[in-house]
Amino acid sequence: MSIKVCKFGGTSMADGHIMRRVAQIIFADEARRYIVVSAPGKRFGADLKVTDLLYACYREIKKTGNCNESFFKIRIRFTGIVHELKLDMDIDALLDKTQADMERVRTIDFCASRGEYLNANIMAAFLHFDMVDASEFIRFDEEGMLNEKETYALAEKVLIGHTHAVIPGFYGLGADGKIKTFSRGGSDITGAIVARGARACLYENWTDVSGFFACDPRIIPQAKHIKVLSYKELRELSYSGANVLHSDCIIPVREMSIPINIRNTFRPEDEGTMILPSKRYEGAQHIVTGIAGKKNFTVIYVEHSLMNTQIGFAEKVLSVLREAEVSFEHMPTGIDTLSIVIESERLKDGKLEKILAGIHRKVNPDILRIVEDIALVVTVGHGMHRNVGTAGRLFQALSENHINVRMIDQGSSELNIIIGVDNKDCEKTIAAIYSEFFEKES
Ligand code: ASP
Repeated sequence: MSIKVCKFGGTSMADGHIMRRVAQIIFADEARRYIVVSAPGKRFGADLKVTDLLYACYREIKKTGNCNESFFKIRIRFTGIVHELKLDMDIDALLDKTQADMERVRTIDFCASRGEYLNANIMAAFLHFDMVDASEFIRFDEEGMLNEKETYALAEKVLIGHTHAVIPGFYGLGADGKIKTFSRGGSDITGAIVARGARACLYENWTDVSGFFACDPRIIPQAKHIKVLSYKELRELSYSGANVLHSDCIIPVREMSIPINIRNTFRPEDEGTMILPSKRYEGAQHIVTGIAGKKNFTVIYVEHSLMNTQIGFAEKVLSVLREAEVSFEHMPTGIDTLSIVIESERLKDGKLEKILAGIHRKVNPDILRIVEDIALVVTVGHGMHRNVGTAGRLFQALSENHINVRMIDQGSSELNIIIGVDNKDCEKTIAAIYSEFFEKES
């Protein structure tokens, strides 16, 4: 029988009433046998996500040795959920044990992971499914990266023993045997691992929007809905700010070509967005599939005459970044220039100064400059390389809207064009590109 894996995000788990709707969705299709859950998210704008409350618990434990004050809010959230679900379970005992474990283990990842852990226990009891802990099969290596080989082998072995299971998202076991989390939003990756381990025909990712839009609907409220995306387009858009799905979640599913369907828990009748392996993707109706943007980057600009003839120049510059343990996003180059684009957040605590000093020392540049507060706007589409003049149209639109382009980078796959603009121009840039390719085209 075909198997579908469903992952439900924080807003789909926000309270007991929504969890009842989730149960209806699950029982509407008997192929939905493996369910991955996030921790309860926000119920309203000013609400706090349980994961954020758990980070507060960790800080309290560090300071005082216990988390009595911060854990109280978590206690209220979960007892409320159990009450709303009319579930006959000893939630107080589970919460007491969880708090005691957090105070004993005292690591940030362990504390942060308990939202998914508690929620999976509750959801499993409500659905009458098995609760299978993700630490039984998700493994990280010494560098903190997902140990794909071990994880996939274990996932298959563990899941085969359960016909129906709820699995907590967001965490696994580190090489040191301790609980380790993915980056924020990482339950999407857990869902993909489970889909692969269960050899699912479909990975349904249930959230609070009906999939991807050609750009953020907060910028263009009538933005076109995207019905189909390729894995590659998804990765580009998610990585660059389209906050629907974690950009790494295609890694586990791509070898088995498992499609991902983004669905809306609050509008289950909507078909959502289907994300297909690039080879099965039949091509865009539009030249551009989508546009996304992310703020707060720093560009380090290095100029040295005859840079192009100096063997190992870029390597020396990059070795400075390696020594400072800072990764970069993009590196557009010219004949005598090289720019490195880095998320500003990574340059805090003296790292920027360290990197600038290192570059001076290693390559003695003619000019070394930094440009801060840069937003990267990416325009993505398989259709772009087939259409002559796409870049021309894009830059024309920016110039007509008086947008100052600070940096240009086109990926060699011709799947994307990335431009750097001032943070303040980010939304305006997205709107200008959207208007050029979607409003003028149709
Ligand atoms: N609960 C975690 C977060 O808030 C992970 C997730 O929801 O995917 O980031």
